[in-house]
Amino acid sequence: MKKTILSLVLLTLTCVMASAQQTIIHCGTLIDGKSNTAQKEMSIIIEGEQIISVVKGYAKAGSGDQVIDLKSQTVMPGLMDMHVHLESETGPQKYLERFVLNDADVAFNSIVYAERTLMSGFTTVRDLGGTGVNISLRDAIAAGKVKGPRVITAGKSIAPTGGHADPTNGMRKDLMGDPGPESGVINGETDARKAVRQAVKNGSDVIKVTATGGVLSVARDGSAPQFQQDELNAVIETATDFGIHVAAHAHGDEGMKRAVTAGIHSIEHGTMMSEETMDMMIKSGTWYVPTITAGKSVAEYAKTPGYYPALVRPKALAIGPKIQETFGKAYKRGVKIAFGTDAGVFPHGENYREFIYMTEVGMPAMEAIQSATMRAAELLGMEATLGSVEKGKIADVVAVNGDPLKDIKVMKEVVFVMKEGVVYKQ
Ligand SMILES: [Zn+2]
Repeated sequence: MKKTILSLVLLTLTCVMASAQQTIIHCGTLIDGKSNTAQKEMSIIIEGEQIISVVKGYAKAGSGDQVIDLKSQTVMPGLMDMHVHLESETGPQKYLERFVLNDADVAFNSIVYAERTLMSGFTTVRDLGGTGVNISLRDAIAAGKVKGPRVITAGKSIAPTGGHADPTNGMRKDLMGDPGPESGVINGETDARKAVRQAVKNGSDVIKVTATGGVLSVARDGSAPQFQQDELNAVIETATDFGIHVAAHAHGDEGMKRAVTAGIHSIEHGTMMSEETMDMMIKSGTWYVPTITAGKSVAEYAKTPGYYPALVRPKALAIGPKIQETFGKAYKRGVKIAFGTDAGVFPHGENYREFIYMTEVGMPAMEAIQSATMRAAELLGMEATLGSVEKGKIADVVAVNGDPLKDIKVMKEVVFVMKEGVVYKQ
């Protein structure tokens, strides 16, 4: 009797397995995100949202299977940008927006930016700060209501009073008020803990602090440290209790040192990073997310009179052009690097530009692609499911015409996008 039941179960299982429909991608060239060489004539076999195997040659399809022909393309894991702002995009009217846009307006805008990001090949992004609408956007995308990349979001950034992410900088006094930790503005350890707990309650996946001044805030200073050591320590200790990472925006070196000392997970921009700080980061395994594209973009926009407020313009001209050189030095010294652009500071969908800037100062194209795939997945702690084309990983797959290892500019035109086994662009 038992034997009969067992064979029935086995028979049912076999039927289920045989009837599961597969998608087979024939890849002319495959860069899998992990190995340092590209492989020719490979097949990726996908069931549902998962890669079930990667095999040499062009695998034959069974009846009912779908075959995607990318024999003339270079296939890669879905690209991952570790620093974007999906709620907004640059423009000369940008500084007016916080006075005239409601959350619903921000939400509708973010849908456009999210879709454009996905269609340019980025299947995962880390949103490092907005109003908090980015949390709803993440959920809407995850529920399949909106087309966009998988979003890991910080919600609203944390800063001290008058710091880079104080949302009332530059406002008239009566509008300015005195925002507190509920709005991500902190003074002292107690506020720091409350702001982190509030962010987690709101639904943030990661905490973002502005460890130094910044370029685009209406505040005079662009690089001085903004938190005392005890405040940064309190932010990171509290976040660590929740098992989430803290990312630090930083241009000046002293603010970076304090952030690294406190145990920060990643330094964003890193403009004036000293060799001493690079060595501290190497020692403690801190990630560097360069955002060269943002630096180049703000320096360019600042040449147009009136594009930025008067307080912002000199900062953009001074800080913007330095990031690429710093990145080149940090790469050569051995700092861990994950791809990030600060998209939103320039138009969403142009994230590919970072690849060009990274390779211009010495990072090989293969490593640049890995920084936007496997290395980014490692930064997120999601390397078990994302970042490479391998058995068991989520089926996020993109393709370009041509060979990015010979000409990185081909990353501009991503011609195929699959996220979680669903084709969004072909
Ligand atoms: Zn940013």
